[in-house]
Amino acid sequence: MAKTRCTDRVVGAILASWRYDISGISPEMRRDYEQHFAECTHCSARQRFHRGLDVALAVLTSLAVFFFLFALAVLRHIKPLEHMAFNVFGLDVADTYHMLVSAGIAGLCFSLIAFLLVLTTTPVPSYLGGIAAERAKLLEERLPESIKSLRPR
Ligand SMILES: [Zn+2]
Repeated sequence: MAKTRCTDRVVGAILASWRYDISGISPEMRRDYEQHFAECTHCSARQRFHRGLDVALAVLTSLAVFFFLFALAVLRHIKPLEHMAFNVFGLDVADTYHMLVSAGIAGLCFSLIAFLLVLTTTPVPSYLGGIAAERAKLLEERLPESIKSLRPR
């Protein structure tokens, strides 16, 4: 990836400043950049890398949300740490429990905010939406004629 060079420095610099995301610009302007992506292996590789990074971030932050939800669910149903906290650290049981719950809620809020930030600042929703639309189109093309004719146009 680092070995290739952009075929058009100016366009490449503009695309880099957008993190190779052209989903936000008008369709007429997009055509030129899409052509550049088709011609320039450097930029198309960078685009794939950044979109992969965005998806990875979205997956990681949503996993964090689930992790904290799970931790809170565990805390609600069993309190396995109470004994240990009471005996080893000499802490008050209720205090320790509230501390753990607060930590869980704080973590949940933080990971939710991170997840929302990823969704709003990266093109993940439109990127995944585009993939879903492409899949749907492919599926529709494979449908037999008898079913196709049933669909309203
Ligand atoms: Zn380029």
